[in-house]
Amino acid sequence: MSGNGELYIVATPIGNLDDLSPRAVGILAEVDLIAAEDTRHTRKLLTRFGIKAEMISYFRGREAERSAAIIARIHRGGRVALVSDAGTPGISDPGWFLVDQALIAGIRVIPVPGPCAAAALVSVAGFAGPGFLFLGFLPPKKKARCDLLSAWRDFDHDLLFYESPRRIIGTLADIITVMGERRLAIGRELTKLNEEIIRGPAPVVLDDLVARPAIKGEFVVMVEHRQAPVPVDDETVFCRLRDLRGKGYSLKDSVAEVSRELKIGKKKVYGAALVVWDKKGLMAAGTQEEDNEN
Ligand code: SAM
Repeated sequence: MSGNGELYIVATPIGNLDDLSPRAVGILAEVDLIAAEDTRHTRKLLTRFGIKAEMISYFRGREAERSAAIIARIHRGGRVALVSDAGTPGISDPGWFLVDQALIAGIRVIPVPGPCAAAALVSVAGFAGPGFLFLGFLPPKKKARCDLLSAWRDFDHDLLFYESPRRIIGTLADIITVMGERRLAIGRELTKLNEEIIRGPAPVVLDDLVARPAIKGEFVVMVEHRQAPVPVDDETVFCRLRDLRGKGYSLKDSVAEVSRELKIGKKKVYGAALVVWDKKGLMAAGTQEEDNEN
């Protein structure tokens, strides 16, 4: 075990510095060492709250080496806090690796929850979905991105992911191609001066962004889950069949047409067609008559 050493995973603001919780301020002021993704960035936050602290950088590509140094410090009884550039460490950043190594080393890991860009968007999206699937960053390559979107197209939960300003247009276009006109909620620059939440069907949101002279800022995207088709009521079926009969369609062609248009089984449409064509007596006779009918 690790003596009295502990590792705190501290969420920091994603834009608005006032979002740093009083508990987070207290922990950051008390610990012996702060491991930060970018020490210069975190120094600004600490200065704002009057905190002077020893820091070590912990970032992608150096996780293994820095984790070893941090864990050694904790084993000597040190209390260490991990922060990322913004939000909750471990969510689409390298925080998870240090946590994993610390747990293997028998260290107590303590969460200090707070801001998270994904959670902020979910809280204002206004989708009624039963839940959501967070995909982190989508693959940068179009083919891999489309494959991933296809894999989740019919999933009955909303999809949530991070996207860069360089790729947001391409990604929205891919969503439309793969998933159709889904409703979106996009969070741009959340909690910052230019915060925006763009909501609407994917093509409308895409047009809005394409019309801008430049796309700037950080993005979170939420895609509403596939909506179950609205059940077609009997009157709609009868109405359409009467209409087609009036236009001279045969019973057989009308059944095929209405079944295709309203996406309902031919058997159900055939039953209604027999009523419309006044051939209820044929109902039990099956499709033989249907095939012969004109
Ligand atoms: N750990 C962070 C969290 O809890 O939100 C996320 C880290 S990830 C490396 C950074 C990405 O989060 C950005 O590229 C952007 O997609 C999203 N993000 C971070 N801050 C944001 C903000 N203020 N508004 C919108 N998206 C943001």
